[in-house]
Amino acid sequence: MFNLVIFGPPGAGKGTQSIQIAGKYRLAHISTGDIFRSEIRNQTPLGLKVSGIIERGELVPDELLIDLLRSAMRKCTDVRGFVFDGFPRTLRQAADLDHLLEEDGEKVNLTLALEVEDQELITRLLIRAQREGRKDDTQEVIANRLNVYQNQTSPLIEYYKKQGKFKAVRGQGTIDEIFDRLCTEIETSLSSR
Ligand code: AMP
Repeated sequence: MFNLVIFGPPGAGKGTQSIQIAGKYRLAHISTGDIFRSEIRNQTPLGLKVSGIIERGELVPDELLIDLLRSAMRKCTDVRGFVFDGFPRTLRQAADLDHLLEEDGEKVNLTLALEVEDQELITRLLIRAQREGRKDDTQEVIANRLNVYQNQTSPLIEYYKKQGKFKAVRGQGTIDEIFDRLCTEIETSLSSR
């Protein structure tokens, strides 16, 4: 299997690129943000529990992620690997993911980070707010999400660098240009296995 983490701050384009990558390499796309939004729409107990947290731009507690992820992965049978989008977001989640993959004799093969300047992120998120009406795309919540990314998620860069699995890719330009850059890294990684 080939297991890929798409990494980056909110607004970096993780969702857009993950969908394209999953299509091209026939990987299963798992977005924890999409899973939570669906739980909220369906007003499930989990949705009700997390909706306030997400609206404030905070992270859902780590304990709630691992079971969610395990069941999302188990639903995908006969896959060539996964694209993890928006997960892991903390060191604890990264360790949990490693253990979960180890249960199946697997590992994270590559982490690709989309690098985008803060001002560009804010502009993109405000445009998305108008288009999609996401409640966590207001100016105040965006600022909070960028802080949360800096404090809780960016330490993962070192975590994956130490394992030699981290590649940064410029996340600015057209969607196709960025996709090409990501594919180049994926193919390098696939051919070196
Ligand atoms: P996203 O669509 O990935 O930007 O996620 C939207 C929101 O869902 C985040 O701001 C968090 O509140 C929550 N969320 C998504 N994935 C995670 C995760 N791995 N850990 C904690 N919270 C998450």
